[in-house]
Amino acid sequence: MKILCVGRNYVKHIEELNNQMPTEPVIFAKPDSALLLKNKPFFIPDFAEDFHHEVELVIRINRIGKNIASQFAHRYYDEIALGIDFTARDLQAELKSKGLPWEKAKAFDGSAVLSKLIDKSRFEDIQNINFHLERNGETVQKGNTSHMIFPIDQIISHVSQYFTLKIGDLIYTGTPAGVGPVAINDRLKGYIEDERLFDFLVK
Ligand code: MG
Repeated sequence: MKILCVGRNYVKHIEELNNQMPTEPVIFAKPDSALLLKNKPFFIPDFAEDFHHEVELVIRINRIGKNIASQFAHRYYDEIALGIDFTARDLQAELKSKGLPWEKAKAFDGSAVLSKLIDKSRFEDIQNINFHLERNGETVQKGNTSHMIFPIDQIISHVSQYFTLKIGDLIYTGTPAGVGPVAINDRLKGYIEDERLFDFLVK
């Protein structure tokens, strides 16, 4: 399986990092070795200093597809989850400034936290879901999927022009504002609406 991620999909997050507004989705990938499942701790790697949490709604692809029209994209996923796209922000800034790829800063082991999956049919409107992240009991990121610049169906349509989507592939749909550093002994809890979907420690 592969993990595809959308960058810069919420206006306030683009503003907080002084990035340009995208005219089409910004896409990058992580290998399956990046996955961090089952509330296992996130061990801060030693190759950078400034690791940021980015909480994101994640969708799981349930059928194979290529060149999917956005009006049919909803048929290609039936489960969602909450994830964190961990980012070595200092390393990413260095790579960006040199015009180099982001993978070392974005796709390392443990950089793709994934909660348990939940059925999307539980939600009336997938583009109006609240989610938030608590760090040590304090809400640090809060989002609603209605604020995405590129909604989920458009993301699926876009990425499937380039990458054949397969069963089990994951798409991280971008983070709202409030990204920030994590430190050893932090406890991170992620919620979709009122349901806690992950709860793990930083070590
Ligand atoms: Mg992200």
